[in-house]
Amino acid sequence: MHDKTPMHLATRCVHAGELDDAQGSPHTPLYTTTTFKFASTEAILDVVEGRAAGSLYTRYGLNPTIQSLEAKLASLEGAEAAFAFCSGMAAETALFLAYGREGVVCIGDAYGGTLELLADQLPLFGIDTHLILGSELDRLEDLLAGGARLVFLETPTNPALEVFDLAAIAEKAHAHGALLAVDNTFASPVNQQPLALGADFAVHSATKYLGGHSDLTAGALMGSQELLAPIFGWRKNLGSMPAPETCNLLARSLRTLVVRVRQQNASAQAVAEAMQRHPRVRRVLYPGLPDFPGHDLAAKQMSGFGGMLTIEVDADTEGTAAVVDRLKLFAIAPSLGGAESLVTQPVTTTHHGLSETERERRGINGAMVRLSVGLEDAEDLIADLEQALSVASG
Ligand SMILES: *Cc1c(COP(=O)(O)O)cnc(C)c1O
Repeated sequence: MHDKTPMHLATRCVHAGELDDAQGSPHTPLYTTTTFKFASTEAILDVVEGRAAGSLYTRYGLNPTIQSLEAKLASLEGAEAAFAFCSGMAAETALFLAYGREGVVCIGDAYGGTLELLADQLPLFGIDTHLILGSELDRLEDLLAGGARLVFLETPTNPALEVFDLAAIAEKAHAHGALLAVDNTFASPVNQQPLALGADFAVHSATKYLGGHSDLTAGALMGSQELLAPIFGWRKNLGSMPAPETCNLLARSLRTLVVRVRQQNASAQAVAEAMQRHPRVRRVLYPGLPDFPGHDLAAKQMSGFGGMLTIEVDADTEGTAAVVDRLKLFAIAPSLGGAESLVTQPVTTTHHGLSETERERRGINGAMVRLSVGLEDAEDLIADLEQALSVASG
């Protein structure tokens, strides 16, 4: 099936990129193959020199299982092209090395690994990285004028679910000749299409919603053919290719992406509303709640509010930990987007390394509990939270 066909998203999830298989398989078979043989020297040269498309060597990404997955990944974000990676961090690393060398501005609370890479590792190569908060957005103009050529952000953010205006930030970046990359992991392509809003790249930890079952680690980068072209060499020589087995599993997962995420949206909304009514919950951070500060913007640029929310328990850090420990259905684990509901207290996991002052600056506190709503019945999830909260006290 051709990816240019203007089909709706769920249809593309099922059909985009799938190869016509001589045996009649309705989906692309798994080629565990590391290398591919040719009929002649001339035939291999045609592929090596780019005159013919073809499978060659799996680490280059020239393997039908990987390329079929990439056609599907591109289609999900409405992109011309996509590259698959062995992890979300591998995708980000290739992106920063290919496009961030003149300076990167990261806006807002990004994933911990991203912040570490930007703050600690990339500067070792002389790369200027600037981490600014959402409240410091007025600094963006100066940083762009100062030469930064890549803007990177997540929206909604972790764990405060801050929402950024993608169209406005893309316009600002482009006015200075810079590019905008959006980590779309939290929203997933079902709820948000950054490229359609003006971003140049969508980045994913496919480990989360795209994989959706907590059983694979992968990443993806989507964009135009032209912008992705230089990424090919970086991925090839960083060796950050996903295994064909993982690509096959990810393609399998993507066929159900839309039904999974829509269900997670609906359940998260129900959980958020129930938590908002709960006397032991001080605050619920979820873009789907009409009184949430980012709600109007989210309603404008997203088509669903996502499966992630944060509640602030009416307790101190220890009292909040006790609530988390009493949960039975929500497992204490630092990931998201799977069929199983997961819970973390950010100060003990994702934001553990931050100083008290830095946490305060970022609006992170010990009473925050981040929930990744899975595919269980919302009623059961709400009942679990209610029993865990029933004994909450300062
Ligand atoms: C998990 C995550 C990453 C990193 O992805 P890995 O697949 O673990 O490398 C990046 N961004 C966000 C938003 C994430 O949640």
